[in-house]
Amino acid sequence: MKKVLSVIALTLVIVFALSAVPFTADKLFTPATEAAAEEDGVLLTLELWSDTHIGSSNALHFLENGVEVLNSESKHADGIIVSGDLSNGGYADEYRDFYNTMAKVEGSKVVTANGNHDYGQTKSHEERRPVAIRYRNECVGVDSNKDYYSTDIKGYKVIVLGDEGTKPNSAVISDAQLTWLGEELAEGAKDGKPCFVVCHWPLKGDHGEWFLWPIIPGGHIDSASTRKIRSMMEHYSNVFFISGHLHAGLNGAFARRFFNSGCVKEKNGVTYISVPSFGQGNRFGIRDKGTGMHVTLTKDKLLIEGKNYLTGRTYDGYVYEIGVNNYNPETDTTPADPVDPVTPENPDSPDTVNLPDETVIPESADNKQEAA
Ligand SMILES: [Zn+2]
Repeated sequence: MKKVLSVIALTLVIVFALSAVPFTADKLFTPATEAAAEEDGVLLTLELWSDTHIGSSNALHFLENGVEVLNSESKHADGIIVSGDLSNGGYADEYRDFYNTMAKVEGSKVVTANGNHDYGQTKSHEERRPVAIRYRNECVGVDSNKDYYSTDIKGYKVIVLGDEGTKPNSAVISDAQLTWLGEELAEGAKDGKPCFVVCHWPLKGDHGEWFLWPIIPGGHIDSASTRKIRSMMEHYSNVFFISGHLHAGLNGAFARRFFNSGCVKEKNGVTYISVPSFGQGNRFGIRDKGTGMHVTLTKDKLLIEGKNYLTGRTYDGYVYEIGVNNYNPETDTTPADPVDPVTPENPDSPDTVNLPDETVIPESADNKQEAA
């Protein structure tokens, strides 16, 4: 047993070391200088943050620092999307600190999702859920008592999914929510318009969830819902699925090979983006606190740049470029045929991830403290 643990520990060390190396030859890669040169024709800019965990040590300080850096920049993003675990314990004072700080952001619309910590990581959701939803509604401007809602940033639809379960570490998406998602996609992603789906949890098989969250349930959306969500999104040309939860850091080719996806993954026309933790450390690649992604949408592409919001610098080598077939209603008179957004599950297209044999990660004090 000791020997097995040693081998696993050694593997982890190697993974940590190698995954910090920026990837090179890759179709998603573009040099940072080229990315910076893209100035004209910007349709939308976003900052992607996640897992701020306000209430855990120094997390509020990092958030305040990040907001100050954003406000000092000459251009403000159109929106900031924070994909869950806004708070560490789901307490009202943590939400007050989070939303009061985010309210200081100049010129950007703030959109939030709720995560497992927001609904009570170790307790029943009954007590914490209403608090999380009340603050979300007041501060983001949502009029719903549901766990999910949609909004828009500069005319681009942002669909926010939510857990409807009652137990800690659940990530339950009801049939009603799936049907609603289909309707929202039909409206927001119509004719190839870029559309963003935000969910605290990744879908099953993405971004190394099988490795990062192997034992306790709740690391990802369950298999059945994953297949249905993928199937719905794959009907459209430019859907971007944004998640947090894994605290996996900014990473590249090695993580993609090892996890079958790094922090940005394209599959069947859908782009999956795993946002690093802002308030706590990250496990792989660039592990810094205060990290997130700066997103620029142009007519032709969606550019994702790994960024440190405590310094305002982007990370060279952690730049991802996704081609966009951007429909322009003024010039494009032949939009794609409308499709039914909800289709029956296709048994012939299961998750493509080849799950390895059960992998056990030794529980370290660090893992416990920073459990996503
Ligand atoms: Zn988290």
